[in-house]
Amino acid sequence: MFDAILIDKTGDAQTVSQTTVSEGDLPEGDVLIDVAYSTLNYKDALAITGAAPVVRRFPMVPGIDFSGIVRESSHPDYAPGDAVILNGWGVGETHWGGLGKVARVKGGWLVPLPKGISLRQAMGIGTAGYTAMLCVMALAQQGITPEMGEIAVTGAAGGVGSVATALLASRGYDVAAVTGRASEGDYLKDLGAKTIVDRAELSGKPRALGKERFAGGVDVAGSIVLANLLSMTRYGGAVAACGLAAGMDLPASVAPFILRGVTLVGVDSVMCPAAKRREAWLLLAKELDLAKLDALCVELPFDQVIATAPKFLAGQVRGRVIVPVS
Ligand code: NDP
Repeated sequence: MFDAILIDKTGDAQTVSQTTVSEGDLPEGDVLIDVAYSTLNYKDALAITGAAPVVRRFPMVPGIDFSGIVRESSHPDYAPGDAVILNGWGVGETHWGGLGKVARVKGGWLVPLPKGISLRQAMGIGTAGYTAMLCVMALAQQGITPEMGEIAVTGAAGGVGSVATALLASRGYDVAAVTGRASEGDYLKDLGAKTIVDRAELSGKPRALGKERFAGGVDVAGSIVLANLLSMTRYGGAVAACGLAAGMDLPASVAPFILRGVTLVGVDSVMCPAAKRREAWLLLAKELDLAKLDALCVELPFDQVIATAPKFLAGQVRGRVIVPVS
């Protein structure tokens, strides 16, 4: 038996509890892992509160990411004692996830822990940080270089935004951190933001084209925030869109695309191919300033995860939330 958070459903009513479950009930997979750390991501908060239909199978152990040590493996790439990371692949949605002390998954879903970071630091980064790196890689792939001008990061004080701010700053970009929380200005400047932009500036009715300001952007918000960001993106710029914190719609015009050659790049971390994930994790281990990572992480005891999920959705949590599991 092991401790886990368990989401269940009876009729239309979802329940969530901290309980013990049997290893015999773990889903199929060729690698058994003793989970060391998991995290609380936006999607986990949606799953635990039931605010959106993230969980597709019940009962479900949530937790879209974890780090841990392989206990048993019949997969050729992994042996007992290996340190591994898992992000996405439907874990915590259709397959039991990281908010339980033991997990069984497909070996093909795992990424070896890169040299230079610990299991705890890996979950400090977590799915949010790995997605931030995918966004930074997307901008680089579009040819957006630091000399081209400011990069806007929306939801800058959140998990994806905090890591994106630190990563872009370490690559030499001028980061304009867009936040709804003026009180987080010093925190964002410490992460490397050059300027702080009030989210209200990107929350009005979007115009087809606004004044050209940003060379690019990392957007976690969607909806009117992304529409405004696109309208403010300079000729030839690019925006990497990965989130929906403001909404899933996009009330935008095609004007930025057809008159300014702006590119909108979609970023998905869940089904991202294995080779690109490994590249992202190697770059994270190499480029992310570990002192900055420490500054953007808080630790949440396992027994407070359920109570904290609603606060997370209310935007009251800063940076990344690490959950020690073992
Ligand atoms: P967090 O809750 O940590 O951060 C979200 C941030 O968005 C908040 O901190 C807040 O930042 C900002 N925000 C909140 N509400 C609004 C609003 N109405 N309008 C504009 N900004 C808002 O979440 P994460 O960083 O973990 O995730 C961010 C988004 O990215 C989520 O939508 C998540 O689902 C998505 N995501 C997508 C992935 C993918 O694979 N595509 C992977 C990981 C995350 P501030 O206070 O600074 O304004």
